[in-house]
Amino acid sequence: MVIMKFGGTSVQDAAAIGRVAEIVSSRREQHPVVVVSAFAKVTDQLVLMGQQATSGDVKASLQLLELLRVRHLDTARELLGAEGLARIAGKLQATFEQAEAFLKGLAAIRELSPRSSDRMLSFGELLSSEIVAAALAVRGLDTVWVDSRKCIVTDAKHTRALPLADATRERAQVHLAPLVKKSRIPVLGGFIAATQEGTTTTVGGGGSDFSAAIVGAALDAESIEIWTDVEGMMTTDPRLCPDARTIRHISFNEAAELAYFGAKVLHPATLLPAIQQDIPVYVLNSGNVKSKGTRITAQAPHGRDTFRAITAKTGVSLVNVVASRGVMVHGFLRSVFEALDRYAASVDLVAISEVSMSFTMDSKRLPAALLADLERIADVTCEGQQAIICLVGEDIHGKPGIAASVFEAVANAQVNIRMISQGASEINISFVIQESDVPHAVRHLHARFFTHVDAAKPTAKKHAAQLIANGHGGTGRTRRVSSVPGRNKTRKGN
Ligand code: ADP
Ligand code: ASP
Ligand code: MG
Repeated sequence: MVIMKFGGTSVQDAAAIGRVAEIVSSRREQHPVVVVSAFAKVTDQLVLMGQQATSGDVKASLQLLELLRVRHLDTARELLGAEGLARIAGKLQATFEQAEAFLKGLAAIRELSPRSSDRMLSFGELLSSEIVAAALAVRGLDTVWVDSRKCIVTDAKHTRALPLADATRERAQVHLAPLVKKSRIPVLGGFIAATQEGTTTTVGGGGSDFSAAIVGAALDAESIEIWTDVEGMMTTDPRLCPDARTIRHISFNEAAELAYFGAKVLHPATLLPAIQQDIPVYVLNSGNVKSKGTRITAQAPHGRDTFRAITAKTGVSLVNVVASRGVMVHGFLRSVFEALDRYAASVDLVAISEVSMSFTMDSKRLPAALLADLERIADVTCEGQQAIICLVGEDIHGKPGIAASVFEAVANAQVNIRMISQGASEINISFVIQESDVPHAVRHLHARFFTHVDAAKPTAKKHAAQLIANGHGGTGRTRRVSSVPGRNKTRKGN
């Protein structure tokens, strides 16, 4: 059995969904289970609609909902014809009616709780999965739409819920396994799930990848395929650096490190269920059916380059905490860590001395109250608009001189480093720079450390040029889309 997940751009319109049908059809013998994201940009629009409704502009939110309705119905009509559309029109219409009633409800209570946000965002994947299931059926595949909320059971941490593995396995065995056994193809929405009691949850921004891995683990799949809009995991984000090229084979550890430190191509939690059951994960390009993409397995052969890849994580704050005079030095660090613990603060990088500590956090997850708490025991400064650059590679373990060559390259690029960290695992070197220096620094580092051109595959230049031509290029496209906790601040959005 193979789990096939298609991201937002891979299902953005009728042509893209047509390609999905071809790809799934080519895997028919391998018993596919299909997981889809919302159509490109829909989740962002649902976030916006929720905000409009709660801030009193229900009219604007209903207008946006109407645009969504037209887009989904037009796409469905193009794929299914009038007759095919008639078969699912009732269900689509019912979903839009629920969304409308929900927006009016939000406007009445003027509050968007994490729980309501999950319900609001669930409409995107509910609609896309219905349409994709029907489109695949019209093209001769024996698909069955399945409600992911019946299959994936999570805790109640709304906006970034975590799966309950045993309960999910039980449900997947009931709702999915028998279909696969009969060679039918279940199609379900990623990102959305439910608590034991059936309340809708989501597994975090970009979480359809995670859903695919959760389902893969629950069904003991042979492989998990993440179909996206680039040729696999690349040596760096091709939008930042046109010379980026595909990594053919990478280890779970390296890929997890890359995902965690900003390679948006994979949701950071995706690999956990796969690692636990040693299920290989492939990242593939849905725009290229012959794509070889990237294979992620427990171990991967050493590459010719020093590093496997470079990532950049933007939207980061750098917090410096220096013990105030008179504070007992020996208790200082404990007090700082206790404060971090009180706010369940998820810290990325840390640098420590006896009387000071610097750490970085995702800016939108940094509670103002944490800073106020720290100010009671220390002098605190906090700078936003920083970024973490991370160079990852298992081959750097135990090799002298690598850090020096990285920092020399950064110095040659005239970029100022604010903080440095090399983890105990020795598979990454990370440092903090200003967000505005990211494109320049990444291009410079890529040119310095990725000198081996893959003869079989040219660089991603052509692909990047196409992205830029489509208006997707550069870093200027990132934007703030949400104040909902757990969603990425800078994202392309589906
Ligand atoms: P999907 O909608 O299919 O889930 P995403 O937008 O979440 O797709 O992820 C794909 C994007 O990830 C690419 O378009 C690319 O800009 C970005 N990306 C960031 N780092 C990398 C990397 N190292 N390799 C490939 N893509 C990357
Ligand atoms: N649609 C969701 C999002 O945009 C989940 C996903 O696409 O992976 O975050
Ligand atoms: Mg994604």
